[in-house]
This record gives sequence, C-alpha cells and structure tokens, in this order.
Amino acid sequence: MNSETILGVNVTPLNHKEITNAINQRIKAELKSTIVAINPEKIIKANKNQELLALLNSATYQIPDGIGVILASKLRKGALQSRVTGIDLMERLLELADTERYRIYLYGAHDSVVSKAVQVIKTKYTNIELVGYMHGYEQNTNKIIRDINNCSPDLLFVALGSPRQEFWIKENMDRLNVKVVQGVGGSFDVLSG
Ligand code: UDP
Repeated sequence: MNSETILGVNVTPLNHKEITNAINQRIKAELKSTIVAINPEKIIKANKNQELLALLNSATYQIPDGIGVILASKLRKGALQSRVTGIDLMERLLELADTERYRIYLYGAHDSVVSKAVQVIKTKYTNIELVGYMHGYEQNTNKIIRDINNCSPDLLFVALGSPRQEFWIKENMDRLNVKVVQGVGGSFDVLSG
C-alpha cells in the first residue's frame, strides 16, 4: 500500500471497507496496528513540530479524516478516494468487533461521557464485548495501562484530543497488550450525544 504524502504527512489511500478489512487481517495475523486521523489542521501542526510529524508517519494507518485532505489530493490527481472520518471508522470497527467477538476498551473523555458512550455502544451492538473503560483525566499512566492490559482488549479507542492522544499512543504502545489502537478525538462526546 503506497501512502499519499501531503506536505510531508502520509495519508492512507484506502476507503472505510478496505481499511476495516486490512485491520481484520492484521488482527488475525497478530500484528499490532495504530490509526491516526489526518486533517489540514494536523498537517499544519506537524509541519511546525518534527516529533509530531514523525509520530503521525509512524502509524500503521493515517486516515483521510478532513475534507481538505481529499481536496488537496484531487487537485493533484492523487490517490485518495474518499473521506474516512475517525468516528465513521470507529463505528465500522465496532461492527467488526460485534461480528468477530473482538474485545474493546474505551479510554478518554470525562467519566460521564465515556460511561454514556459505553451504554450507547452496548445498546447498538448487542454482541459486543466491551470489556472496560477509563476516563481521560486519570493522571496515573501505570494504573491506566494496568487496567487496559487486565481487560486484554483487542481494540482500544483513545479519545484525549489531538495531539495529546497521538503522543500517548506512541509513548505507551510497546507496553499495551492490544492489537489495534485508534485515536478518536471527540468521538465519545459525539457517541454519547
Ligand atoms: N480529553 C481528555 N483528557 C484530557 C484532555 C481532553 O480525556 O486531558 C478529552 C475531552 O474530554 C474530549 C476529547 O478529549 O472528550 C477532546 O475532544 P476534541 O473534540 O477537542 O478533540 P479533537 O477531535 O478536536 O482532537
């Protein structure tokens, strides 16, 4: 898979279905995957911050979340087909988890928000194994990692806002016993209504 590069930032030229299928194959092959969302604001931030740029480019998938990213690609007849927003991909992955009985964990947002998101997800995806959650204001990282690993989820959704969540994922990926981590920004707020 050749990424398209926009101002130095890689973007994955796959649609929702292709990314979801690719992630499923990687889960079955026991390969870890990280997913970050790319929009014009993040491209600008990454151009001012080399660490952020390297971190975004080191993710397994950089989804074209912002419409501006698609427009930039179309203007130069690039490979990006369609927008893949963070929340849309999260919903596809929840459907996948529901079907495949993958275990999921939510980390981030205020306690009332994440606990409401848990209820909404459990109601919508009736077979889902939502094995744990933690709000995003817990300061003890060891405690967070311990809780996640004790729940042994296959998929972890991290909603701390950007670029905080990307740095958190990068810093902790090696000690997380999970197969897929997606940074989802304000998605728990959206899901919880
Ligand atoms: N958040 C958090 N811990 C923090 C800072 C923010 O859990 O220390 C949460 C916040 O409650 C909200 C999300 O991160 O649920 C940020 O959402 P926002 O829409 O600002 O993120 P974006 O999608 O713009 O990156």
